[in-house]
Order: sequence, then C-alpha cells, then structure tokens
Amino acid sequence: MLTGPVPQPGILDIAPYVPGKSSVEGAARVHKLSSNESPLGPSPAAAAAHRSLADQLHLYPDGSAVGLRLALAARYGLNAANIVCGAGSDELLSLLARAYLGPGDEAIYSQFGFLLYPIAIKTSSAKPVVAPEIEHTANVDEIIKCVSKRTRMVFLANPNNPTGTYMAIDEVRRLHAALPEECLLVLDAAYAEYVRRNDYEAGIELVATTPNVVMTRTFSKAYGLAGLRLGWAYCPPAVADTLNRIRGPFNVSLPAIAAGIAAVEDTDHLQDAITHNDTWLPWLECELTALGLDVTPSVGNFLLVHFGNEPGCTAYDADAFLSARGLILRRLDAYGLPDALRLSIGAEEANKAVLAALKEFLQKAA
Ligand SMILES: *Cc1c(COP(=O)(O)O)cnc(C)c1O
Repeated sequence: MLTGPVPQPGILDIAPYVPGKSSVEGAARVHKLSSNESPLGPSPAAAAAHRSLADQLHLYPDGSAVGLRLALAARYGLNAANIVCGAGSDELLSLLARAYLGPGDEAIYSQFGFLLYPIAIKTSSAKPVVAPEIEHTANVDEIIKCVSKRTRMVFLANPNNPTGTYMAIDEVRRLHAALPEECLLVLDAAYAEYVRRNDYEAGIELVATTPNVVMTRTFSKAYGLAGLRLGWAYCPPAVADTLNRIRGPFNVSLPAIAAGIAAVEDTDHLQDAITHNDTWLPWLECELTALGLDVTPSVGNFLLVHFGNEPGCTAYDADAFLSARGLILRRLDAYGLPDALRLSIGAEEANKAVLAALKEFLQKAA
C-alpha cells in the first residue's frame, strides 16, 4: 500500500468543477455561449486602467483594496468597512465555508443550485444537504424543512445558475426569519444587475439589518470582467472581520483593483450590457419557445433549454449538432439536468446563429 498525505474528510468526495467548453475542433467561427460571459466585453475604461499598471507589476497591491471598496460603497450606498473583495466571488464563497463550517456541520443548498456550493461545503468536511426545487426554482418551505440543529449555512444563488430562476425578496426574508441566528444565509447575487423584476432585491437591506446574512457580487458577469477574477461580499461587521482574518493579505491584484474601480464608475457600459440583455433574452426565449422547445423563464443572462429523450432529439444530440457548427453551450449533467442545455445570451450574430441552428436541428430530428 502506498502511503502519503491524506486530505481532510470529504475532500476526495468532491467532483472537480468542470468549466464550460471554450473551443471546438474544426469549426471556423466559434461562439462561446457556455459561461455567461458578457458579449459586450469589459468597459474600455476598465481595460485602460488595467493596461496602465502593466509596468508596476513589481508592486504589491493595497491589501485592503480600499479604493475599490469606496467606489462600490459610493455606487451602491454601502458602508465600505463592511465590504470584502476577493479573487472572484468564488473565493469569497469558499472563504465563508472555510470560516463557518467544520466536521459535523450541515449546509443547505437547493437542488439545481450553483455547483461551487457542494465543493466549498465538502472542503470544510461539512455535510451538504440538498433542498428539492419546484419547477426549477428554489423553494423556501423545502429549504426550511432541511434545517436541523447542525445547520450552519444556507447558500442561495439568487438568481440561480444554471436555471435562471429567482426568489422574490419577501420569500428571502421569510427564509431568513426561519433560520436560527447562528446560521449564515449567503445570498449569491452574481446576476443581480440583470434582474428586471419589482419583487427582486439582491439583499443589501437584509445584510445591513441582520447579523447573519451575506451578499456576494461579482465583476464576472454584467461587468464583463470574468478573466480578471474580481468579486466582493457585503457583510455584517463580524463576518467582514472574520473574512479579513482568513483571506490572503493581497488576494486581489493591483490591476484588478484599478480595473474594478473604473468599471464601477463606468455606469454607461454596465447599462449597455443590461440593455443588450433586455433585448436578446426575451427575443431568444420567445423564438426558442416558438420552435417548440421548453425554456425555463430566466431573469439572468442565460436560458435553460430543455430537450426530450427521443433518440436523435436529446440535449446530447443538440449539443453535438451545435458544437459542430461552432456553437458552444453548457451541458448540465453535473447538475442533474442531462436533458437540458444552458445558453448564454451572446452578441446578435451568435444569438441568431443559435436560433437558426436549433431550427435546423429540430427539422432534421422530426
Ligand atoms: C458566475 C457565478 C459566480 C461568479 O463567480 P466569480 O468567481 O465571481 O467569477 C458566482 N455565483 C454564481 C451562481 C455564478 O453563476
């Protein structure tokens, strides 16, 4: 028997996260619609700020990212002291799990919730508890049923990826009210900028008025800066203090801080990304539905498209057909949704190409 270092309990149960594909062999023109990236790209001001630091890479960044926190605080009406920045919101979600979960603890997420949650939970040797969803939507009563005296965290992606569905703020409040105070409710609002619903809030007020709610946000989606790796959390003071103790002292890079500040201040570019989505999300939803496809209503920048199980007409077949034409969507087997594909809203050309290809696929399969 070989011996060697043994990871903590739970870690070898983790199925490694498999990102969406980004290339296909042989296709001339590739449209990557598998990672919910912004078709508009980054703010030109953010890109310029990033470039302007190219010859200062020998310098450490400001470890507390105070400039970025102040910009976020001004933009969203927050207390900068309660903001913690991270290398993507992924880092902050993982740090929260590391700080508040251990062996014997339980953490809840919903059935089709973001796959990072079980990874973060198992990394802390805690037990993931999965609450069933109803119509691909997280359900407060089902989550509450899963609460035990061992529950220490609830992760809720709102809106959720990969389903695109959301929970109204009144329901989030009802969920919070049912949780014990020692249980942390994590509201992952990665797609908040895109949501156009009067009954939606990302959770800022809940964070500001309770000791046990954290909201995470990202620059990866509507801000178009996924490659930069930048996210932030709005926290109760004690949670911010905890994260600041365990995060890397320089966890956000020098160019990332500068680009983030410029991006927050470029409200026009963000608005352009939202306006683009407001045009093409409903257009694709409507056109795909007209083709006879079952599409889950989405408030994000992507659509969950369901396929049947008839041979030749499955999600697997559709994925192969689209891939061969350079159209990359996200397969969702790992989410327990093998019959569906997730389609990110792309540029006009990409959206039209997907529609045309799916029309052809369905005609061939019929
Ligand atoms: C994309 C995404 C994130 C953001 O991850 P980053 O690490 O900030 O790039 C977080 N949560 C959900 C649900 C997402 O889809």
